[in-house]
Amino acid sequence: MNIVLIGIQGSGKGTLVSSLEKYLDLNVISTGQLLRDEVATGSELGKHIKQIQMNGGLVELNIVMDVLNKKLKSNNKKITVFDGFPRNMEQANALDKLAKPDLVIYLNLTREVAVDRILSRLTCSKCGQIYNAKRINTNVCPNCGGKLEQRFDDTIESINKRFESFYKETYPLIDKYKKENVLFEVDASGTPDEVCNTCLRIINEHNN
Ligand code: AMP
Repeated sequence: MNIVLIGIQGSGKGTLVSSLEKYLDLNVISTGQLLRDEVATGSELGKHIKQIQMNGGLVELNIVMDVLNKKLKSNNKKITVFDGFPRNMEQANALDKLAKPDLVIYLNLTREVAVDRILSRLTCSKCGQIYNAKRINTNVCPNCGGKLEQRFDDTIESINKRFESFYKETYPLIDKYKKENVLFEVDASGTPDEVCNTCLRIINEHNN
């Protein structure tokens, strides 16, 4: 079963994936994280990717498909969750050929709440768990002891660029998936547990 998560940056896709993993055996394909992993290697390709991420732009399709295909090939799980892919119609068409989505969950959140969440987002440099700086009083991950850091691309300039790109390029996909009868809209303003429970119910109804 292939699940796609769509939502504005800060809508809680990464947090949702971490929560779902506690209940379901998932293969998670987070293109943003896979690209950041390449950045962390310090390779020439990583330097190129970092430049684009810092500016809030989209990395070229061939690079994204490369990291995505590698992760997809090593998959042996029944459920695959795509987080951050597809981001435009070209990517959606590529995904249709590779792993047609059975379920698309649109995490709906206002831009104002999303900005607030992103600016207080801390990510563990070791396990990737996401925290809200307003609700945690340490820079050490309670999960694994790793260092909690702000993402290098969570600057206001980059956030605004990513929002623009979301409304212009990603938002039209909602219409495509609605027409294909695979779209489910979830109010993402609730607590992580509330959003996770709603999504678990939707997934379980479709997972047979
Ligand atoms: P995310 O972790 O999903 O917020 O993505 C962080 C950054 O990685 C984005 O701002 C893009 O620069 C890049 N990125 C992630 N996913 C994609 C994608 N599907 N296509 C192109 N660039 C991507």
